[in-house]
Amino acid sequence: MSYIKINQEKIDAKIAQDLIKLCPFNAFEYEDAYLSINASCKICKICVKKGPDGVCEFIEDKIIPIDKSLYKGIAVYVEQHQNHAHHVSWELLGKAKELKEKTNEDVIAVVIGHQMEHISQEALNFGADQVIVYDDPCFEAFNVEIYTNVMEAFYQKYQSNIILFGSTPLGRSFAPRVAARLKTGLTADCTMLDMTKDGDLLQIRPAFGGNIMAKINTPNHRPQLATIRYKMFNKPSLCEPHGTISIESTENIRKQSQITLLDSLDKPRVKDISDAEIIIAVGRAFKKQKDLELIEPLRKKLNAEVGCTRPLIENGWFDPRKQIGLSGRTVKPKLIINLGISGAVQFIEGMKESELIISVNSDPHNRLFDMSHYSIVGDIYEVLPQLNELIDQILEVNDEL
Ligand SMILES: Cc1cc2nc3c(=O)[nH]c(=O)nc-3n(C[C@H](O)[C@H](O)[C@H](O)COP(=O)(O)OP(=O)(O)OC[C@H]3O[C@@H](n4cnc5c(N)ncnc54)[C@H](O)[C@@H]3O)c2cc1C
Repeated sequence: MSYIKINQEKIDAKIAQDLIKLCPFNAFEYEDAYLSINASCKICKICVKKGPDGVCEFIEDKIIPIDKSLYKGIAVYVEQHQNHAHHVSWELLGKAKELKEKTNEDVIAVVIGHQMEHISQEALNFGADQVIVYDDPCFEAFNVEIYTNVMEAFYQKYQSNIILFGSTPLGRSFAPRVAARLKTGLTADCTMLDMTKDGDLLQIRPAFGGNIMAKINTPNHRPQLATIRYKMFNKPSLCEPHGTISIESTENIRKQSQITLLDSLDKPRVKDISDAEIIIAVGRAFKKQKDLELIEPLRKKLNAEVGCTRPLIENGWFDPRKQIGLSGRTVKPKLIINLGISGAVQFIEGMKESELIISVNSDPHNRLFDMSHYSIVGDIYEVLPQLNELIDQILEVNDEL
């Protein structure tokens, strides 16, 4: 990492005061005749350029190029709980297969647990080239310390180029530990992935409050680690297995931990909109909470769930679990009807994979129209009753048939 070095032998009280005045970030501290730089330093280099000659020096980080040919394989950590794999793992496996087309690296499923035969076979059925299994009674329940030891053992042996984790509560605690252990970085909460022909992973995620999509590339470090939100990619279709399963020895893996599992309680699954097949999404076009009653006939006819944009949560009109978007839930329904929603990037990121998108907005230039299969320009207060009538007519015709 680049940094500013202070040549202490050139420091006296006056020079220290001059530098303290010069720094726009108040990064200098002078105590006991010693000048130090605190965490506020932004390495703007003003002290180097405008400070007394030779007192502050900019030390540039030397980038040591790595031999990328030593790192091969797109590994996916297959998250499981009580022998059920989390669906995000298969979505990531599907994406890994797509990335493989760029560099022809093996897609490796890493399975950790006890009695993992079923999950290992599932990974093969979803098209993994290699399934690497660490099966041991000590791995039955997730323990972040022990699992990190396992992942380290995996990396030491296989030197994979990439390791992907789901952005689940478990993945979000596990991946940073693995990154720290392997002395590499981690891009959290990616929404898209791509790959260069050199095997550099392009990790794409919203940044600056969702105002830009940042493309993060780590060409000088391996392995490349990322966590990815669920429902961003499609689960691959089942295929004729062609890969291999390797059961790894767990003998040399440290199984002691400072964490003791006393008990494990299953949290009752609260139904939210993530799994809904039909969603009516409502936005700030609704002027009063009472006006939401207008969607009831349509909701009942379609047996739909209702989701909303963030301002409606902030108004206290809905339970936060109903919010669609970056800071809410990701949905992938068969049908979503957007009513009076502007299509901010934070909302779109949460629903862009929906199969059929219908949007209603009074603004003909509404951003959601670009991605909608059907767009209706109009006032929701007028369009909604008409939509209701239309659905009635369709249902009647269906009944007659
Ligand atoms: C860090 C961060 C995270 C965020 N996360 C999320 C998130 O997860 N989900 C989310 O939704 N937002 C999120 N936001 C907020 C987001 O930026 C937008 O402000 C929000 O999505 C806008 O909601 P809206 O479309 O309902 O409202 P508006 O932007 O006000 O849009 C209202 C729309 O209704 C239309 N309209 C008005 N009256 C009518 C009418 N009578 N008939 C038809 N159309 C009409 C207007 O043309 C307009 O398009 C986040 C913001 C930040 C900074």
